[in-house]
Amino acid sequence: MMSEIKTIIFATGNAGKIREIKEIFKELDLTILSMKEAGVSADPEEDGESFEDNSIIKAKAVRKLVDESYPEPSQVLVMADDSGLEVDYLDKAPGIMSARFMGHNTSYDIKNNEILKRLEGVPDEKRTARFVCAVSAVFSGGEALVTRQTMEGRIGYEIEGKNGFGYDPIFIPDGYDVTSATISPEEKNEISHRGKALRAMLEMIRDRF
Ligand code: IMP
Repeated sequence: MMSEIKTIIFATGNAGKIREIKEIFKELDLTILSMKEAGVSADPEEDGESFEDNSIIKAKAVRKLVDESYPEPSQVLVMADDSGLEVDYLDKAPGIMSARFMGHNTSYDIKNNEILKRLEGVPDEKRTARFVCAVSAVFSGGEALVTRQTMEGRIGYEIEGKNGFGYDPIFIPDGYDVTSATISPEEKNEISHRGKALRAMLEMIRDRF
């Protein structure tokens, strides 16, 4: 049976993420809306123990609002993501705390310099790290799907590059000798944790459309 789903509401306020998901999901011919565009707003406490948990917490909070107040909620698929940086030498910190590491309002210049400092004198082979992204989808009726994908790499020795955001200026993806803040946005989307997780989610739901 063909799905009656016509709209994806993505639990984010980030315009860059919406652009990326629109590009990746364009073959499904659905309307893709941010929370703001959909007129819903949820900011649940992300108190899960994993990226998967936290993305499902976000998606379920938005699902609840959509089911309560959105016209034709059964035509809506709700999605959310949760992402962050794991540094192996720091026992996978900042991990699910990536956005909150050293405080929400601390600049990434300060956060990145702190990570470089904690890795001072640590040799290449122990500087392994990864960006992680979990993407979840919650259908009306409550069925939840989730996928977790990574971009593997290592922490560099200095801040480098003006593209990207967050921890990009200290992260060198495998196969590169420059940071993910140095490569173009298009190239990063092809190899990134978020690009991979969105494409994996597309594979998981494609046969329902
Ligand atoms: P959120 O999933 O949007 O809450 O993002 C979590 C945090 O992880 C961001 O605020 C960044 O600090 C970090 N992060 C996630 N993905 C990336 C990335 O692609 N580059 C740099 N930092 C990232």
